[in-house]
Amino acid sequence: MMYAMLVTALLASPPARLQVSTSSGVTSIALLQVHGDGPLISLNALARSLGGNVDRTDAWFTLQVGAGRFRFLAGTPLVQDGPVLVGMPAASHARGDSLFVPLAFVAEILAAPTHQGWTYLPATGTLEERRHHVTIDPGHGGSDGGNPGKFFPRGMTEKDVTLKVGLLVKAELERKRVVVTMTRSRDTLINLEQRAPRYCQRTCDLFVSIHVNSLDPRPGYTNVRGFETYFLSEARTEDAVRVARMENESLRFDTPTVGNDTGNKLDFMFKDLQTAEFLRQSQQAAAMIQSQLFEVQDGGSRGVKQTGFAVLRTATRPAVLIEMGYATNREDAALMTSTDGQRKLAGSIARAILAALNQFDRETTVTPGGPGR
Ligand SMILES: [Zn+2]
Repeated sequence: MMYAMLVTALLASPPARLQVSTSSGVTSIALLQVHGDGPLISLNALARSLGGNVDRTDAWFTLQVGAGRFRFLAGTPLVQDGPVLVGMPAASHARGDSLFVPLAFVAEILAAPTHQGWTYLPATGTLEERRHHVTIDPGHGGSDGGNPGKFFPRGMTEKDVTLKVGLLVKAELERKRVVVTMTRSRDTLINLEQRAPRYCQRTCDLFVSIHVNSLDPRPGYTNVRGFETYFLSEARTEDAVRVARMENESLRFDTPTVGNDTGNKLDFMFKDLQTAEFLRQSQQAAAMIQSQLFEVQDGGSRGVKQTGFAVLRTATRPAVLIEMGYATNREDAALMTSTDGQRKLAGSIARAILAALNQFDRETTVTPGGPGR
């Protein structure tokens, strides 16, 4: 059915070029027209445009791209897709050191739903990289101001800083073709336990909640600074318990929901294998955020931590919570409230998110008809 449609499209107007659209831009690749065989494409050019590579051993050419591995036997219409041998409508042709493969490989095999990574649009002759989806959650909002921001300019609280940085992260990610959902784009109150489940659903790759830390007055407390990123777990340290208690404070602004037994929900989630995978991805994302923030926040990394935030507890997808710095420290506060500082923080968070998404792609095993996307 798919092939019949494709043949019709090709007969109507054989495309002269393939457009490859990825997060690093659009590449246009000229197709080779061989009489009777339909258009062929250079495997090397295809690999370059997709950030993959080609290895040759005798008559076998192997294209490695993302998690996909395709072995072509030059001069035959055969390609080995992972462990499966698949026929193409025409043979591949070796020319010198390079192999030319039928465009049908791109349209039907590379862009098959089982590979998840790409979509082929026959009307425009475009191979499109699947767009990632991220949800950004600027902490607090509306009547919940978050922490009062001891060293913030007058009238500014945590909710203002998280929104500013959140919107900058969104802009950065959108420049890289990531689809971004905001839990809030203005100063409004969103129910804490509904943020992740409502705004980060089936197609969402990562939920990122952005916050500002603070300490209650005690001797020397204004000297404490630095950044930390959390993923969901039982709290492991006294400090993690403190931060969870502080952020979960926002629950008092929420309207109660029926059957809200978060303890049981947590148990249930840990039994779910998919959730175990999401926790692993959450931990990876948290580590990448920490290492990127290290470049712009000289308060020092306080590490990847685990605790039972309400906002993460209700997440059904990979989720992290960032504490960008302390409002109770003068240097951290200056960084988080300056335009330049917010731009730097957002840039590093966005870079870390992109790195995490790439990592997820590389490690995703193909499970046709399985859970997920
Ligand atoms: Zn907060």
